[in-house]
Amino acid sequence: MDDIFAIPIDDKYLLYAPLHHLTALVNRPALAQLEASLQADAPAHPALQPLVDRLRAPGEPVPMARTGPLTDPLFLGIIPTRGCNMACRYCDFAAPKQSSPVMSLDLARDAVDAYFDLLAAAGQTRGEVHFFGGEPFCAETAVHFVVEYAAHRAAEHGIAMRFEATSNGLYPAARGQWIADHFDTLVLSLDGPAEIQNAHRPTPNGHDSFEIVARSAAIFSDAPIELVIRACITQETVGRMPEIAAWITHEFLPGSVCFETLTLSPLAEQHEMLPPDPWEFALNFDRAAQILGAHGIETVHSTASTRDCRATFCPVGRDALIVSPDGWVDACYLLHEDWERSGLNLRIGRLDSGRFAIHTDALQDVRALTVHARPLCADCFCRYHCAGGCHVNHDTRGRPGEYDALCVQTRLITLAGLLREIGQGELAAAWLEDRAACAVSAGQPSDRLSRIEAV
Ligand code: SF4
Ligand code: SF4
Repeated sequence: MDDIFAIPIDDKYLLYAPLHHLTALVNRPALAQLEASLQADAPAHPALQPLVDRLRAPGEPVPMARTGPLTDPLFLGIIPTRGCNMACRYCDFAAPKQSSPVMSLDLARDAVDAYFDLLAAAGQTRGEVHFFGGEPFCAETAVHFVVEYAAHRAAEHGIAMRFEATSNGLYPAARGQWIADHFDTLVLSLDGPAEIQNAHRPTPNGHDSFEIVARSAAIFSDAPIELVIRACITQETVGRMPEIAAWITHEFLPGSVCFETLTLSPLAEQHEMLPPDPWEFALNFDRAAQILGAHGIETVHSTASTRDCRATFCPVGRDALIVSPDGWVDACYLLHEDWERSGLNLRIGRLDSGRFAIHTDALQDVRALTVHARPLCADCFCRYHCAGGCHVNHDTRGRPGEYDALCVQTRLITLAGLLREIGQGELAAAWLEDRAACAVSAGQPSDRLSRIEAV
């Protein structure tokens, strides 16, 4: 009974058992019978018996923290620089990062060598390098070196490689083409058509960025690279999400579009930019997803993906090794001071003479940062997908059911997605239009079937 959830959708319930890969829409009497049958280990009504049988069968294991030696790192993360050539109006990183140091080629070589030595010693056959910033391609030489050298080391060891980067797209066409030719996945920040992009993401001297970034998006669209367009949505642009989606389908060929909401920061407040209302975001996300889906483009909100079950939302806890320009090895690409503000230490070691010197205790502490340690998430049906969200920016120390705006939008988008997966698209659309009904669904204090009082 433990990981079986039921969430009210109008006068019905969505039954969801993520570890059993089971989703069903049932009415209240059926839910009551089902619960009674599971509790008493008794037969159910014949119409419900297949559901009961599925739920009694073992599901996939509960996602837990990693244990044991570090032999299967999620990826090698490289932060070639924290500098950036944009001055996004909501990004507090911009100002201090303009003049950030660049990773030396010696350090870049050490990072790649240490990574391949680790993979080879563990007998791994796949490797991944992810680049973060700032804007990683501001340190073009370091990126070129890592890509070429990692490809060379991978060939030596017979390891299949993937390269991925998160980028702002503000560079000459030749650099865009090089990226398109050498990378497998590019996550491109592009907030919408010209007036939105230019208002959100100008250059440091106040110039428009749209033309150049759109040119990069067009280059990536014409290449075999997997393009992910990531759009930051604000209170002002939330109503335009369907229009942004339609515009993307006309202009570019991404594999997916990721809509994320603005994270409130002093700089964003200074520019009077606010996050959207969570219900409006969920409603417009669903509308945008229908438009993109009609063109074969997936729509993503990072905390609402039900693709797999996980114990932690992000690279943190999954043994990613993220190397910063000064040689520290961290579990997260944010700045040290950002974690500290949230009471976390995500530093797991250092590059030392061409090897990873990983602090075992620090690694175990980071691995322990799973959904099981996040009280707010204890009874939420999203616990094995969202898993509490960002460890740094989402405070999940509250009691179960004390959902904030991030939870509400995650819960609504996940519910709508699950309804659509079982062919209940019309119900999903109608339910999302009804703000009061959504408030009931999103606000249920515990989703666990065993704790639903109405049943
Ligand atoms: S309670 Fe909030 S943060 Fe936790 S899993 Fe649910 S939606 Fe995510
Ligand atoms: S803790 Fe937050 S910022 Fe750091 S890697 Fe995870 S999601 Fe990203």
